[in-house]
Amino acid sequence: MRTKRSTILVTGAAGFLGFHLCRRLLDDGHPVIGLDDMSTGVQAHVDELESHPDFRFVRHDVREPAHMLALENIGQIFNLACPASPVAYQAQPIKTLETSVLGVRNMLQLAMARGARMVHTSTSEVYGDPQVHPQPETYWGNVDMNGPRACYDEGKRCAETMIYDYRRVHRVDCRVVRIFNTYGPGMREDDGRVVSTFVVEALKGSDITIQGDGSHTRSMCYVDDMVDGLVRMMAVTPPPDGPVNLGNPREISVREFAMMVLAATGSDSRVVFTPEAIDDPRQRRPDISRAGRVLGWTPKTPLEDGLARTIDYFRGRMADRAPRDVA
Ligand code: NAD
Repeated sequence: MRTKRSTILVTGAAGFLGFHLCRRLLDDGHPVIGLDDMSTGVQAHVDELESHPDFRFVRHDVREPAHMLALENIGQIFNLACPASPVAYQAQPIKTLETSVLGVRNMLQLAMARGARMVHTSTSEVYGDPQVHPQPETYWGNVDMNGPRACYDEGKRCAETMIYDYRRVHRVDCRVVRIFNTYGPGMREDDGRVVSTFVVEALKGSDITIQGDGSHTRSMCYVDDMVDGLVRMMAVTPPPDGPVNLGNPREISVREFAMMVLAATGSDSRVVFTPEAIDDPRQRRPDISRAGRVLGWTPKTPLEDGLARTIDYFRGRMADRAPRDVA
């Protein structure tokens, strides 16, 4: 790896995780280039990052080679570019698939050219609707290659294959993390993920909508813990041989989580049930023993605390938007 002052490239920098990761890297004293095509990115994130003298923003689609970065002193690449919310990735399935596959190819080639180390963000969705519970990295998954989520799940699976082939053939130092549901301040209100959706519905006093009977489970990791895992994955030597799960193993049913949100917001929203989403996994819980072993990582933030911070964030945003009294 290069010296500490070499630049770190973060793709997907305007998104939820990318924004938090860039802030952490800048706080740690690194120059950062944030790359994003702004398809699901948030301009306010870019504006905040650009107020830092060591941050530079490049608007670019990772499906195209990043020629403009060919001469930069890039020592590390975090590849996060890809819509993560089902609403967003299903809206443009072909672009989603291409972003995963061509995007990782372009970043691997940049890493090769610059001799940079790379961390790629894969996902728990590579396990599909798992038949093994909790999911260890050795589980090969249960994915419908033709379902509405396949553009994301299979795109991420193919990206992993390409990474391991580049490692074997070209000796590129690329590491893979498989991220499980992550939440926190900075999520988009309309991204359709369970935390943002329930919190916004509760704060507005509108019905909390559960798809299915609410017995399906999720495990949710607070964003600061996730960013810490990403940073550790980049730093660890030697590189782990295979992927590493990052997520919070505390499992909670969607119905129980809805009740928790109601209690934490003090909302009197009703909970209503709609038909189950197609291909929605029934159970999700990471086996994080490998992350503990190779990274010394375990999530620290209890769901109650992370949820309270997330509620404060959405409450603040809604208050900012509320019409002001005119004197
Ligand atoms: P996000 O949608 O908030 O951010 C993704 C960013 O990538 C956006 O700013 C978007 O504009 C950008 N992007 C999308 N396509 C692009 C392209 N072709 N070229 C350049 N930029 C592009 O998602 P997130 O929650 O921040 O997730 C970041 C990464 O982590 C993704 O790769 C995602 O698959 C992975 N991940 C996230 C979660 C989670 O719970 N947040 C879970 C599993 C995996």
